[in-house]
Amino acid sequence: MINGPHVIKCKAAVAWGRGEPLSIEDVEVAPPKAHEVRVKIVATGVCHTDWEYLYETGKGMKFRPFPLVLGHEGAGIVESVGPGVTKFSPGDKVIPLFLPQCGECDRCRSPKTNHCRKNWDNTQMGVLADGTSRISCKNQQIYQFLGVSSFSQYTVVPDTSLTKIRSDAPLEKVCLLGCGVSTGYGAAVNTGKVEKDSLCAVFGLGAVGLAAVMGCRVAGAKRIIGVDINPDKFDKAKVLGATECVNPRDHNKPIQEVIVAMTHGGVDYALECVGSPDIMSAALESTADAWGTCIIAGWTETAAMKVMVEKILMGRTLKGTYFGGWKSVQDVPKLVDDYMNNRLELDEFITHSLPLDQINVAFDLLKSGKSIRTVISL
Ligand code: NAD
Ligand code: ZN
Ligand code: ZN
Repeated sequence: MINGPHVIKCKAAVAWGRGEPLSIEDVEVAPPKAHEVRVKIVATGVCHTDWEYLYETGKGMKFRPFPLVLGHEGAGIVESVGPGVTKFSPGDKVIPLFLPQCGECDRCRSPKTNHCRKNWDNTQMGVLADGTSRISCKNQQIYQFLGVSSFSQYTVVPDTSLTKIRSDAPLEKVCLLGCGVSTGYGAAVNTGKVEKDSLCAVFGLGAVGLAAVMGCRVAGAKRIIGVDINPDKFDKAKVLGATECVNPRDHNKPIQEVIVAMTHGGVDYALECVGSPDIMSAALESTADAWGTCIIAGWTETAAMKVMVEKILMGRTLKGTYFGGWKSVQDVPKLVDDYMNNRLELDEFITHSLPLDQINVAFDLLKSGKSIRTVISL
């Protein structure tokens, strides 16, 4: 590997095309341009969104160009910075962010949202501010998934899509704060604003759903009902705070009717962490009329969900969350502190650790329901 202010040659898992397993390749990572930072990725989680983008583009996900390097749940160390970068120096521990926080736009100034749009159109299409990516392979441009690409030993990100974290944080743990755990946890505490002594139901007990369970527990919920078609997830859900778990396949009526009956009228908060429009409708219908809130964390970009108007007329609220409502640059370091101070769990989410060349195994483990999170070391 050649380091310095020039091109770095390193390994990355490249997605050459939709539906094809990732391929470990020698790639070239260009130096950072103005307001960009080159990061040595040390560890990355493998999120459902990575899998979905590779295997289900066009189904629920909008098209983004291939070839690309996936991965958006990483942590690493700054290697070099481009002109104009003031907040980062080589050696800093950092978490790249698929949701930026520029601090200057209308949305960053508003307390109502975390949806900064800095570089948005570019990063959604896999390129940086100048319309190109910094990763190439065999003289071909390789797009950067959500502007991040943590399945590469080195990547370059905008300085508004990166946050500095404390130097004693273990990167192989806190990488999970780059997406799944922050999203589910924030869905409960920020977007839902789950209240003490409330009744909650969490649909889908992957990393996002388990983090939502944890958020409901931290908020002081009285009952937290975990819902999953895979009962192997139930033990972990109980460790993180679920008071009971339900498998929809054990019942011969719709899950929303089961939950309404269990709670004598519906839950105060239902969190959808699967990404299925049918489950989104079921989650909404599981809430109490008059005040129930349904929060959607599961991802689909092109599908529509069915909402019976009456369910909303009666007083329910339907909300969605992107990255758990966290203002990314300012809040992720605080979540790292919470982990370091034992106020937030991460270790329970990590069921497997693998090297980069086993990354397709990590996808298999996720899809077969055997893992919660595999952390890849680069
Ligand atoms: P995961 O695959 O680990 O977990 C999904 C869980 O849902 C699994 O346990 C699965 O068994 C369960 N499930 C599947 N069908 C079900 C059904 N019919 N009823 C109940 N449970 C069912 O995925 P994850 O990484 O936890 O991600 C969950 C969702 O969150 C995905 O859609 C992902 O794309 C999305 N996501 C959204 C954001 C955001 O910012 N909103 C961020 C990260 C991930
Ligand atoms: Zn993710
Ligand atoms: Zn902004």
